[in-house]
Amino acid sequence: MREAYRNEPFTNFTEDGSRAAFAKALQQVKSELGREYGPVIGGERIATELRQPSLNPSDTQSVIGIVCQADRALAERAVQTAAAAFGIWRRVPPSARARCLYKAAAILRRRKHEFSAWMVMEAGKSWTEADVDTAEAIDFLEFYGREMERLGDKQPLTSVPGEDNELTYIPLGVGVIIPPWNFPLAIMAGMTASAIVAGNTVVLKPASPTQVIAARFAALLEEAGVPEGVVNFLPGPGSEIGDYLVDHPLTRFISFTGSKEVGLRINERAARTQPGQKWIKRVIAEMGGKDTIVVDDDADLELAAEAITLSAFGFSGQKCSACSRVVALGKVYDELLGRVAERASRLTVGSPEDPATYMGPVIDQKAHAKIMEYIGIGAAEGRLVCGGKAGDPRGYFIEPTIIADVRPDTRIAQEEIFGPVVAFLKASSFDEALATANDTEFGLTGAVISRSRARLEQAREQFHVGNLYFNRKCTGALVGAHPFGGFNMSGTDSKAGGRDYLLLFTQAKVVSERL
Ligand code: GLU
Repeated sequence: MREAYRNEPFTNFTEDGSRAAFAKALQQVKSELGREYGPVIGGERIATELRQPSLNPSDTQSVIGIVCQADRALAERAVQTAAAAFGIWRRVPPSARARCLYKAAAILRRRKHEFSAWMVMEAGKSWTEADVDTAEAIDFLEFYGREMERLGDKQPLTSVPGEDNELTYIPLGVGVIIPPWNFPLAIMAGMTASAIVAGNTVVLKPASPTQVIAARFAALLEEAGVPEGVVNFLPGPGSEIGDYLVDHPLTRFISFTGSKEVGLRINERAARTQPGQKWIKRVIAEMGGKDTIVVDDDADLELAAEAITLSAFGFSGQKCSACSRVVALGKVYDELLGRVAERASRLTVGSPEDPATYMGPVIDQKAHAKIMEYIGIGAAEGRLVCGGKAGDPRGYFIEPTIIADVRPDTRIAQEEIFGPVVAFLKASSFDEALATANDTEFGLTGAVISRSRARLEQAREQFHVGNLYFNRKCTGALVGAHPFGGFNMSGTDSKAGGRDYLLLFTQAKVVSERL
């Protein structure tokens, strides 16, 4: 019997041994910087002319790796290779496919700090954030492996006398996997693993800023025994290969996590039937958020301040679950604002190689410029209470920033910023607070900090988000415990890390035999 699924524990960095082990992993990773990576199609490593350096966002002079970029010809080859491999992989029993994931999880567990250290260097994650990311990647592998075994079991059907009926979940075909850079291991691994364990083959197009981590994970899958052609690793510019992969008539589904703009574009393009295409493409999209923490007038304000600080500034707010709006009732507004500002001003910003750093940089130049622009907009729309400035120019640093006295209809209250910026809004009643929280095109996460049972119950019913938290932060969903995904413009209502998720990558076939 396989052990029951449980979440991978996080590393306790207050222990000397853990700190030493992580520091050693960082040194090892530093000795491997600057290597070359590139597309791997059907097991073949391919060098291309166009090479992109992946830079360290904390120190843009430092090159993490050089990544060969695919063009359309390679995209075509990757799709064809995946289509050919599908003929074989679809017939591998679910339990054998699941074993590849368990093996990958075991390897990842052994090399946990190494993968986390790559995220410190390439994505600017703090030790703790990187460790949580790697733990979640392990969770996805273990969880989806078991989920596929469950779906592979005999499925219950109503019995009909004189008939033998059977329902099986069969795979879809070739999938295009387009993951984000903000959980460069966990979400990328989860999106890939869920698709392949269900029997599909994929073209994995990693996010540009974190191609090295993705390349190392693709190599780990090979080591775990995933056959050639099942995962075709295809780094390349979205502008060159993105539409091509989405439009391809052999593409059966697209699994995407990223911005609303790109998600909607994929959805539109995928809806157009191409010559020779035999199916309606399926799109699984996890997009943005404009997530709100509502603070009631009877709330424990220390708890509220802590939940807000963690949710708004963890990984510099670069999570689609991050708190970017606080709606507090008038009675507690000033006191809460003061407490959050006090906490935010104490957060350490700097190189995440230093274990004392809470917040590293944002991901790249484009993100830095966009967030700084939003801070300017926010300062005009509201009142800048703390932060607002860029940090050490060697990297893409931005101070934790709070904008107070924001009105619900302003840009800072409506648009996703994806940075360490939180807006404070005042509400005159709990009803109004909930209405403001729901006044967004997104619906991903939210939280309510309250001691009132009645108000929590009201929010349970009325707060329209996919992941609602009471008296805690609104980030940090755990695989299996908090299936993750939101409503409206936050995506296609899928739940990563939940029992429904693998169904998105399968179709059910029923065979009825008259006896
Ligand atoms: N699952 C993550 C969390 O709960 C967020 C994922 C994302 O940012 O895409 O914090």
